[in-house]
Amino acid sequence: MGVPVDLTSYAELAVLLVNLGDEGRNIDVLRGLLDETGRTEAAARLTRRDLDALSELREELTGVFEAASAGDEAEVVERLNGLLVRHPVHPQISGHDGQPWHLHLTEGGRVADTLAVGSVMGLASVVTGLGADRLGMCQATPCRNAYLDTSSNRSRRYCSERCASRANVAAYRARRRGA
Ligand SMILES: [Zn+2]
Ligand SMILES: [Zn+2]
Repeated sequence: MGVPVDLTSYAELAVLLVNLGDEGRNIDVLRGLLDETGRTEAAARLTRRDLDALSELREELTGVFEAASAGDEAEVVERLNGLLVRHPVHPQISGHDGQPWHLHLTEGGRVADTLAVGSVMGLASVVTGLGADRLGMCQATPCRNAYLDTSSNRSRRYCSERCASRANVAAYRARRRGA
């Protein structure tokens, strides 16, 4: 990890990983995602051997968002606790590339391990700091993208503006049909 620990950015990474879907099996797509989010060192170290572990992680994270979307907070916590056991944090103080001392959640190991530890800790920190209802899945069927609801009134229901307007159009047409 070339950046200081920022758990919110890791929670956002969890969302991005979930939303890759099957594209997440493509190493170039994954590398692009890591590069775009400033994880250039992880992008450079990513290998095909990480792909299976990351696909498994994506499914596990999807399960967390689905449970949250269904309003099942006990299930969210149970799933996250299981993930925390499987992807333990081994914090180390690190300094590199001219950066001040900062914490790494885990040192060495595969990129898949680093991303797993980070995204699970990120989601755990959102759930404990803000609430399990901050995790959701897009309500504009058939979209099943995950999102983090950072709105002040917890009103988010869609992954994107695009899905929100698509849902609005669909609702408008349904009303017209009904009228
Ligand atoms: Zn670092
Ligand atoms: Zn959507």
